[in-house]
Amino acid sequence: GPEGAGLQLPRRPLGNTGLEVSILGFGASPLGGVFGPIDETEAVECVHHAFRRGINFFDTSPYYGLTKSETVLGRALRDLPRSEFILSTKVGRYGPGTDPRDFDFSAKRVTASVAESLERLQVSYIDIIQCHDIEFGDLDQVVSETLPALQRLRSQGLVRHIGITGLPLGALQYVLDRAPPGSIDVVLSYCHYCLNDTSLLSSLPALRAAGVGVINASPLSMGLLTSAGPPAWHPAPPALRQAAADAAAHARARGQDISQLGLRFAVRQLEVATTLVGMFTKRMVDENIDTAIRALGRLPEAAASPCSSACAGAAEGGGAGAGAGAG
Ligand code: NAD
Repeated sequence: GPEGAGLQLPRRPLGNTGLEVSILGFGASPLGGVFGPIDETEAVECVHHAFRRGINFFDTSPYYGLTKSETVLGRALRDLPRSEFILSTKVGRYGPGTDPRDFDFSAKRVTASVAESLERLQVSYIDIIQCHDIEFGDLDQVVSETLPALQRLRSQGLVRHIGITGLPLGALQYVLDRAPPGSIDVVLSYCHYCLNDTSLLSSLPALRAAGVGVINASPLSMGLLTSAGPPAWHPAPPALRQAAADAAAHARARGQDISQLGLRFAVRQLEVATTLVGMFTKRMVDENIDTAIRALGRLPEAAASPCSSACAGAAEGGGAGAGAGAG
């Protein structure tokens, strides 16, 4: 069986939500087929397996596979006890690309969207509802219209916590600075805390000050840090693709796997509550959980106080507890 099967995947508090999320979260975008076709039965088993092994956080969006990810995830989640998993989905992004018509952050659309997601996911409430890729919308509309609409859904009990997601850290900060205090519970950043990009570090102090929970997604840079390489739609320019392929080969030549190195780096950042990895096979789930448990074996959770780049550096240097504790 898997190496870490007997060990518990650690959990961390998600900001002030009161939720305790597993340090590895299940990114369900692959269930929408965005990294290639998937076998639905295998995908459902993969979700069940992840839950059995201690992953309690599942993230999806109507955008992933244009509702397919939500539908497949819903089929898997209906077999699990509702109070024991934390489910996040999103509003605002619906079309296939980045055309302005593919986005709609209006109160009317996002309200209808949540109702549709509840149906596809076969649940009566969503733990975390997030505005999906806000940089493609009007940030002022997100503040003045989308967030208030989600607050109304929260007061109706349909959603429990509210978040924003996006690539440019500046866009996340812009909305955070303008939204009423306490109206944003979590922020999801992606591709900014991984081996090839650590720009999230500069935002962590402000996020901590705002009291929001931090979700780091795409620790493998959306497939860039994998032996298989990124999908065709990946935005990395040729030089970056080549550098990542070279790094993967370099790791392989030394008996290491680039994905596991990438994941190990990500989960050691203690200010990130959970790291979302896209997975669709049991083997990936086992590999990633084992890696996360092993990565933290040398880094005591007790040191999870304010910790910056210096701390991440100390952890990567293998300096273990002493360095982290001093951070
Ligand atoms: P990722 O960096 O997690 O990479 C996923 C790729 O890594 C897939 O191709 C998968 O096959 C591969 N992989 C995973 N484990 C592996 C292993 N052990 N060995 C080899 N390959 C492995 O990228 P992602 O899926 O884009 O991000 C994770 C999740 O974060 C998404 O599914 C989604 O839920 C969330 N996310 C959200 C946003 C947003 O809200 N704007 C953006 C990006 C990601």
